Amino acid sequence: MEAEKIDCAVIGAGVVGLAVARALALAGREVMVLESEGAIGTGTSSRNSEVIHAGIYYPQGSLKAQLCVQGKELLYAYADERAVPYRRCGKLIVATSQEQVGELEGIVAKARANGVHDLVVLTREQAQAMEPQLQCVAAVHSPSTGIVDSHALMLSLQGDLENAGGIVALKSPVLRAECSGQQVDLFMEDGTLLRCASVVNAAGLQAPALARRFAGLNEAVLPMAYFAKGNYFTLSGRAPFSRLVYPVPEPGGLGVHLTLDLGGQAKFGPDVQWVDGPQDLVVDPARGQGFYAQVRKYWPALPDDALIPGYAGIRPKISGPGQPAADFMIQGPADHGVAGLVNLFGIESPGLTSSLAIGARVAEMLA
Ligand SMILES: Cc1cc2nc3c(=O)[nH]c(=O)nc-3n(C[C@H](O)[C@H](O)[C@H](O)COP(=O)(O)OP(=O)(O)OC[C@H]3O[C@@H](n4cnc5c(N)ncnc54)[C@H](O)[C@@H]3O)c2cc1C
Repeated sequence: MEAEKIDCAVIGAGVVGLAVARALALAGREVMVLESEGAIGTGTSSRNSEVIHAGIYYPQGSLKAQLCVQGKELLYAYADERAVPYRRCGKLIVATSQEQVGELEGIVAKARANGVHDLVVLTREQAQAMEPQLQCVAAVHSPSTGIVDSHALMLSLQGDLENAGGIVALKSPVLRAECSGQQVDLFMEDGTLLRCASVVNAAGLQAPALARRFAGLNEAVLPMAYFAKGNYFTLSGRAPFSRLVYPVPEPGGLGVHLTLDLGGQAKFGPDVQWVDGPQDLVVDPARGQGFYAQVRKYWPALPDDALIPGYAGIRPKISGPGQPAADFMIQGPADHGVAGLVNLFGIESPGLTSSLAIGARVAEMLA
């Protein structure tokens, strides 16, 4: 079969794939993004909370901690430069029982270790002065947390990529690859063979399964894939708060929190529902029942029947139920021995916040 030669291929046009492709193109590489769907950003990148995280919760020194804090700064600067809509609305993390007050102190210490120094501990009165409808024992205010229009961000990244000579090929699923050590051959669904000097596997939920179809890549280095669905319920009526409100984190996720979109619509979620695969994105209305009790711990005035099934996203996990949370896994040649290949695994939250920092990191690895 005649091979078409390209310099860099990025598999997946989610926010991370696009940020990586942009960084590579700005570094002077010839870049093609290969996306199986008919549009950019139809995967997890359009099924999240759109929160610009401050970098509070992650273990010190982890990639999540480093790339979130770096990515947040890069993202705010980029959004200013490119007029990507965002709001630095801030967030409150609330303790709703005396036992949770100690956890708030742990969260502040963790944040400080990650280089996040702007958190402020609030008494009940101080928190309620900011958000009169809030019920809590104490809270922490994070002023650098915000929300961003993730689609405007992705369109802007695509624009930068194309201005730098890169292209996005839609409806272009990659079936499998052969890694020879000199190059990586990608076999496309339409029969095309692409011979690439560098390949970045940014296929999100599919990244581990796709990597298992890369001949010449040692399977022993590949993580297991797990899927944790997060369901959202939207609030009918006016948002009760002007900041994001989070309970203290729960295993597998950040707890049923209130986020706002840029139009001011409030939604609650995501919860944590372990599922067998990445396909099932339907929100079961029955799960809403569990939300009422959780939300009323910090917003007792939530009216009956006010929650409407919204949407769901699936976290691309590489650690399973009951296991400690895994870090982002950015696997380069030093990890797996294949020249020119970078695999991105487990890019769950804060992947949106970290996207520009991940892009810079991967471009450096392939320089
Ligand atoms: C419920 C939930 C809430 C979240 N909230 C936040 C938040 O508030 N803030 C934050 O920072 N992060 C958040 N995240 C994380 C964030 O959404 C992800 O880290 C980010 O969107 C991952 O982007 P991606 O480009 O890696 O993956 P995706 O957006 O999933 O993109 C992967 C792309 O690869 C394509 N693809 C797959 N296989 C192939 C193939 N074989 N060939 C070609 N293309 C292929 C897919 O079609 C898809 O478009 C959340 C995630 C979830 C699930």
